[in-house]
Amino acid sequence: MTRPVCLITGASAGIGAACARLAAVRGYDLALTYNSDPAGAEAVAEAAQKAGARTQILQADVADPAAVDAIYSAIDDSFGRLDALINNAGIVDQAARVTQMSHARLRRMFDVNVIGAIMVAQGAVTRMEAAGAGVIVNISSAAARLGSAGQYVDYAASKAAIDIFTKGLSDEVAAKGIRVMAIAPGLIDTDIHAKGGDPGRAARLANNVPMARTGSADEVANAVLWLMSDEASYVTGSTLDVTGGR
Ligand code: NDP
Repeated sequence: MTRPVCLITGASAGIGAACARLAAVRGYDLALTYNSDPAGAEAVAEAAQKAGARTQILQADVADPAAVDAIYSAIDDSFGRLDALINNAGIVDQAARVTQMSHARLRRMFDVNVIGAIMVAQGAVTRMEAAGAGVIVNISSAAARLGSAGQYVDYAASKAAIDIFTKGLSDEVAAKGIRVMAIAPGLIDTDIHAKGGDPGRAARLANNVPMARTGSADEVANAVLWLMSDEASYVTGSTLDVTGGR
């Protein structure tokens, strides 16, 4: 039987990598994108192959429209179908007050986290509409609700955009057999905090979490794969918190 195909952006690390490993176990073939870490993507693809998945690795900066087009050309050529998208690639930046944020920083934050995610969704929707079915899970953040004052309000604003994009797109395509949801992770133990210049951030803030701990990328992946499954067949437009109660 043909396996369904899932595209995961930012699959070379963290939450995207955990989603890839679990999606392979759940029976998906995988198109996996990375931006700067080919070795990370290779390791994830190898694990997915061991679980029985066909994999394709693609380099793409999601802020580059030509790179996003190239992702879809490659998927069309290799798989000829797209059943699911985990729209995960995202960035933070150094902790800063709003008054300290440069125009270049704001542009990059929104180019990657918002415009990139919307462009990636466009390609998926086009193919899913033609097929009359599909599921999209956007990776938002609890920051969209909390605001991240003094750290990265720009990031929080970019993720709030993802939440309302999720609702609007889901309404637009619900009657065409496509479900669109978001997951809002809380403090998840991945390298994103170090990339934002604060490796100890998640552990330091864990006491603010009702469960008094950080979450793992695997715990986020479990929620993503549930939303993608038929068990969530009447769910669309929602953003699901995976935050330990935060
Ligand atoms: P990581 O930094 O561990 O992984 C980020 C992934 O996104 C990597 O695969 C990276 O690729 C890719 N990526 C980064 N920039 C780009 C780009 N311009 N184009 C394409 N891919 C890119 O982060 P997480 O796994 O923690 O984060 C994944 C998602 O979850 C993000 O959207 C993040 O905002 C969100 N999130 C994370 C939380 C957390 O606490 N960890 C909390 C809430 C939300 P490469 O390494 O190859 O450059």
